[in-house]
Amino acid sequence: MATATEDLLTQARTFIPGGVNSATRSIGSPTGFRTAKGSRLVDFDGREYVDYHAAFGAILLGHSDDRVNEAVTRSLGDLDLVGLGVTELEIEVARLTAELIPSVEMSITTMSGTEATMQAVRLSRAVTGRKYLLKFQGCFHGWHDAVARNVASSAEKAYTRDPLSAGILDDALDSTLVAEFNDLDSVKELFAAYPDQIAAVILEPVPHNVGALLPDQAFLEGLRELTTAEGSLLIFDEVITGFRHAPGGYQELCGITPDLTSYGKAMGNGFPVAGMGGRADLMSRFSSAGGDVVLAGTFNGNPVSMAAAIETMSVITDPDVGFHAHTARLGQRMRDGLTEITERRGITATVTGLGSVFICYFMDGEIKGYRDLLRNDDTAYATFHRRMTDAGFVMYPMTLKRNHVSGAHTDDDIDRTLEAADTVLAGMQR
Ligand code: PLP
Repeated sequence: MATATEDLLTQARTFIPGGVNSATRSIGSPTGFRTAKGSRLVDFDGREYVDYHAAFGAILLGHSDDRVNEAVTRSLGDLDLVGLGVTELEIEVARLTAELIPSVEMSITTMSGTEATMQAVRLSRAVTGRKYLLKFQGCFHGWHDAVARNVASSAEKAYTRDPLSAGILDDALDSTLVAEFNDLDSVKELFAAYPDQIAAVILEPVPHNVGALLPDQAFLEGLRELTTAEGSLLIFDEVITGFRHAPGGYQELCGITPDLTSYGKAMGNGFPVAGMGGRADLMSRFSSAGGDVVLAGTFNGNPVSMAAAIETMSVITDPDVGFHAHTARLGQRMRDGLTEITERRGITATVTGLGSVFICYFMDGEIKGYRDLLRNDDTAYATFHRRMTDAGFVMYPMTLKRNHVSGAHTDDDIDRTLEAADTVLAGMQR
């Protein structure tokens, strides 16, 4: 006889393609969750896990955070979606975003990071009147056509056209050029090959979609100078780095100001909200300000998302909470602990990350660009995450996926995780 969980999964597969609402949610086991609170998840069978997946990083403070939930509940008492004019909540989100993110003077909100980068790309094409977008091998910016190529490609597909999906026109793929992260010469070559034709350079300032490729400061500065000199826009896609690494995102840490910035994920601690902002003269090209770049979206700026974003921004900037210090300290504990274990056990590994993000590549030698990551032992990476998940510590069981510490994780969580990692890595020793 089928168990209650099997019954649920049968229903899921009957009514939802593949039984999940985003392809990357299928990880074998656990198959589904009933509750999420703080650093913990509980699956359909009642088993508890410490969560480092954090909904791909959308969970910043911890699951079902009381402060955010209360702010959302309060917002429901006052108004719901009006769809005309503006609300005080939207004004506050835009004001806070401009206060926190160095490049943002004006901003729009969207419901997803994909829409945010789509708007940034379209705006850059409108402003410059140019066709091409330049992105980097390994960076992911959502799933719209302009950015849907050369994400975490396999060794055979890296640097070929490598579409993210079927159904994308060749014209769209060919209008996006691909360079190597941390290699300014590869960018200069494309500018030379396509003079006055590149509308924008878009990048994750820290490419977390391939773990944590740490940027050379000189590379980022070079991109800033080059794009300015070439009349192209520089777009920082801070959908993962935004709010997570600092209230103002990675641009606050590196001191480089892009023309446009997209952000999302952690912004609403799991509630759906994202946005895009930049200089006022650029943002004024949107049709809402009388310009010619269409701005639309039924659910943009809805009160629930706005209330969640305001509260999340207010918590991470509260000195009494010390959010960034706490998560960076625990992230460093994970990095130090995994380094110690892999060294002691003679496992070929490079443990890295930034702030709350930690990962363990199964490779040695210098890691500068995507090309270096092709030396990573993908099977070992996925096996480590699989076995940690099976042991009760959710780490996404696929190569290059990163792990996140949230504001709700404790030293005790880290102790227990490192203990489990020691056992798992002992089983992986050759
Ligand atoms: N940009 C980056 C850097 C991302 O990592 C993602 C999603 O993972 C996106 C954009 C797209 O965001 P969303 O999934 O909210 O559409």
